[in-house]
Amino acid sequence: MKVLITETEIQAAIKQLAAQVDADYRGRPLTVVGVLTGSVILLADLIRGINLPLRVGLLQASSYRGESTTSGRLEINPDYTPDIADRDVLLLDDILDTGKTLEQLIRRVESLQPRRVRTAVLLWKRERTTVDITPDYFGFEIPNEFVVGYGLDYDDQYRNLPYIAALEPADLPESDTT
Ligand code: 5GP
Ligand code: MG
Repeated sequence: MKVLITETEIQAAIKQLAAQVDADYRGRPLTVVGVLTGSVILLADLIRGINLPLRVGLLQASSYRGESTTSGRLEINPDYTPDIADRDVLLLDDILDTGKTLEQLIRRVESLQPRRVRTAVLLWKRERTTVDITPDYFGFEIPNEFVVGYGLDYDDQYRNLPYIAALEPADLPESDTT
């Protein structure tokens, strides 16, 4: 595994993101909706830097099932999202890859009649993004490598790493030793 983004770099970027959000919303109430499970670490760190009247929601979205390639249809469960009708929403995900996930999530959130939806991701694989989405806020652009850590998993492992690392081929096959 090779470290791509250190803990210090991540924390500095999140401080900046929070400051941008503060400046853009200028004291207006905001609901930050994090996409489970990958965004939980980012959610916890980001909201503590935001100085606005704030609510938190969660969306469950599953497509990756222990695989490192996109597969299947996205299942979205909004049960843990508070009422966002007429509210400003910041939809937060760990990574923007092809963009197909975020596209469906935005559509789903918009169906709940918010005032406005903006998007934030920690990582953006810009060269891979095929849908017409530009995140309103992002931390880092990264190359097309499969990354883990800081909420991102491979087969539900590595989410607890405080940094972002790229998995190398040797990490992938039958690496589960538990
Ligand atoms: P997209 O729909 O943009 O192609 O994929 C977004 C989702 O795929 C993310 O929410 C994340 O769950 C997963 N994903 C994409 N790239 C990576 C990666 O490099 N590492 C991990 N762990 N997940 C990824
Ligand atoms: Mg995800």
